[in-house]
Amino acid sequence: MYKIITILILLVVLFYMVRRALREWGQPKSEKAIPGKDVMIQDPVCKVYVAAGTAIVQEVGGKNYYFCSEDCARHFARESSR
Ligand SMILES: [Zn+2]
Repeated sequence: MYKIITILILLVVLFYMVRRALREWGQPKSEKAIPGKDVMIQDPVCKVYVAAGTAIVQEVGGKNYYFCSEDCARHFARESSR
């Protein structure tokens, strides 16, 4: 009887370990984004909100801007260099 309980406890522990491991795999390893990577920042071109971790970062005039796509970043650089 005790064997079954021990096996059940081990299974539960294993389940939580696997679940945590899966959750960690789901996140990209790059920690380069300066603000919290879950912080939502507005794209100045198309006004869409993007997570800092997945946004395209471009420095324009000494300031970092965040864009939803390369197209928006290019558009912004073109507009601000006028
Ligand atoms: Zn955009």
